[in-house]
Amino acid sequence: MKSWDVIIVGAGVIGLSLGWRLRGDGLRVLVVDKGEPGREASYAAGGMIAHCDPNPASKLRALVRASAEIYRAFVREIEDESGESADLREQGTLAFFLEHENPGCEGARRLDANDVRALEPVIARDALSKDRNAYLLPECSVDPRALCGTLVKAARHRGVDFVTGSAVIEVETQNGRAAGVRTAHSSYAADIVVNCAGAWAAQIRPFGPPTHAAKGQMVCVVPAPEDVAEGPVVQHVVRAPEVYIIPRSDRRVLLGATVEDAGFDKRTDANTVETFYRAAATIVPTIGSMRIHDAWAGLRPASPDNLPILGETSLPGYFAATGHYRDGIMLAPVTAKLMTQIIRREALSLSLDAFSPLRFQDNS
Ligand SMILES: Cc1cc2nc3c(=O)[nH]c(=O)nc-3n(C[C@H](O)[C@H](O)[C@H](O)COP(=O)(O)OP(=O)(O)OC[C@H]3O[C@@H](n4cnc5c(N)ncnc54)[C@H](O)[C@@H]3O)c2cc1C
Repeated sequence: MKSWDVIIVGAGVIGLSLGWRLRGDGLRVLVVDKGEPGREASYAAGGMIAHCDPNPASKLRALVRASAEIYRAFVREIEDESGESADLREQGTLAFFLEHENPGCEGARRLDANDVRALEPVIARDALSKDRNAYLLPECSVDPRALCGTLVKAARHRGVDFVTGSAVIEVETQNGRAAGVRTAHSSYAADIVVNCAGAWAAQIRPFGPPTHAAKGQMVCVVPAPEDVAEGPVVQHVVRAPEVYIIPRSDRRVLLGATVEDAGFDKRTDANTVETFYRAAATIVPTIGSMRIHDAWAGLRPASPDNLPILGETSLPGYFAATGHYRDGIMLAPVTAKLMTQIIRREALSLSLDAFSPLRFQDNS
């Protein structure tokens, strides 16, 4: 029977990044997904690399900073290997923070109303209200769908194997350690198994990291047919407390996002779509003349303390890399880097103690 060094369960941005990275280190890798790669939370995401957010959990700060530092190099490498673009946009974020909030990064610049208009002329004159401060943040964004596409291509190019349309039911064990995985139709052998199954991670037997689904709805608007101008409608990501506005280079603009406790329900509702559309048009009036293209919902993998779950479980050889909640696109490069170090039993460049799977249950 063919065997691999590592089997990764789940081909979202986390499983794909890790598989790509491990293969680059010479390990034989199989990625198994219940559907198609990159079609769950990673497909729904906005793609902000929001490392300047004022409110990251303090335990997350070092991880966020480390991922932001390597982000551009990570994207460039997979773009080079895949020959495709992830639509990395580096114009920065124009953020409207509440008065008590300060940017959580270096290099942010405070803006007055004139600066805001000069930077982004499509912003409404009164967008900078009294209770808000405006900043230009040195953040970037990607198109997560394109990112996952480039990752699949780059991973295949390196020789990562994929099985799709096949849900892993169980992690198999032998002599008290992981020995592979079982799906409805087959078994696959490896000494190391990594659970990257996102919001579904806990469903895998005999146990999985305790994630649950945190639903997020998003709306996509496009220019009206008579608008034949070229280039993005908005240059910067615009982040306000009531909505964020994320431009793509092909002129789509994404508006989001809710955080809902709705189980595995991925339906959208008209009220939410309308609310985002109106809020965005108040900040960028041009959006009011754009057409709603589509709306969708995705299921973020949230852990009980909203921190990622990274490391070896109580079953030797069985690892977890999930629970990235609202930050999985941003944290993918550093997760892949540190999980590769942990799996290869190398010294870690950053401590993952705060994210250990062992913090939740005796057997997790
Ligand atoms: C609306 C919205 C906006 C967001 N915006 C941002 C943002 O701007 N920036 C950011 O950093 N993050 C953002 N996020 C969060 C980000 O999308 C997630 O943190 C990230 O995608 C999680 O990646 P993942 O690979 O862990 O999970 P997923 O992408 O959900 O992948 C998990 C994979 O596991 C597979 N799977 C599940 N069970 C099994 C099984 N039993 N066997 C085999 N395969 C299985 C699934 O099919 C899926 O492909 C957003 C999320 C949402 C919903």
